[in-house]
Amino acid sequence: PEASAHDPLTALLDGVRLRLRDLNDGEPASYIPELGRVDPRLFGLSLCTLDGQVYGSGDRAVRFTAQSVSKPFVFALALADHGLENVLARVGAEPSGEAFNSIRLEPGTGRPPNPMVNAGAIVTSSLVAGDTQKARFDRILDGLSAFAGRPLTVDEAVYASECATGDRNRALAYLMHNAGSLTGDVEAELAVYFRQCSVLVTCDDLAVMHATLAGGGINPVTGERVVASRHAQHVLAVMATCGMYDASGQWMLRVGMPAKSGVSGGIGVALPSQFGIGVFSPPLEEKGNSVRGIAACHLISDQFGLHLMRAT
Ligand code: GLN
Repeated sequence: PEASAHDPLTALLDGVRLRLRDLNDGEPASYIPELGRVDPRLFGLSLCTLDGQVYGSGDRAVRFTAQSVSKPFVFALALADHGLENVLARVGAEPSGEAFNSIRLEPGTGRPPNPMVNAGAIVTSSLVAGDTQKARFDRILDGLSAFAGRPLTVDEAVYASECATGDRNRALAYLMHNAGSLTGDVEAELAVYFRQCSVLVTCDDLAVMHATLAGGGINPVTGERVVASRHAQHVLAVMATCGMYDASGQWMLRVGMPAKSGVSGGIGVALPSQFGIGVFSPPLEEKGNSVRGIAACHLISDQFGLHLMRAT
């Protein structure tokens, strides 16, 4: 259900994109070699309203790997499978104040700080129900697809690249295994996590996925209930405090909407009961968030007074 090209929301997205097209700061991530091959000029922006209309501008249909933007949705699946208390026993809900690949774990328990950093996401992905590695990944892929409202696929080249160079994540996983916070076969858990990061999405997908969270777990395009309303709420709360890593405080201050970024240059934003936004632009600032993505969300939030803490 794509909206026509000349409605006010499409004009707004076009305007934001044109204003930021010449913002050329930052570099695409290259620590996963395959990600460094992207065209840094790509820039797409989409918005999905809770009545299921999808508006977009620029490279809205270009596919890129979800990377950390997958984390809130896999956290949602873990919540659906185990409930909040059981998930919290394994992964915290505090902002780490550290980078996405931080190695710090809770002393004593070995619990990672939250599900939005790599360590926490490796644990939440291991918590998704399934007897085998394949069954668990199938549930993750089906779940992400239900959030997006279409069947998603994996970029095998990015997956292979990440497996081959993911020693820091491997180290994190072994530390957590040693501390008892990650159980099971470490390499198998990592394979599921790396595949989850390599799921291909578009800006339109991110907009629909975040609109599903914003709408309390019902996909506004397909009408399918994907997760319970309280679980969508838990996910948005953790995104609001931890979604932009150690830039989460500044983000809440200036943009004021729950969001999640990934190193491929995607950012997803959800404004509860209103809409979801997906942005894609590969060059990142030093904390690993898309430069144009941040700027676009600032503009949209300011222009429409969307900050959650704004008194009306
Ligand atoms: N797959 C990436 C990693 O584990 C995800 C990190 C991110 O998007 N910030 O390093």
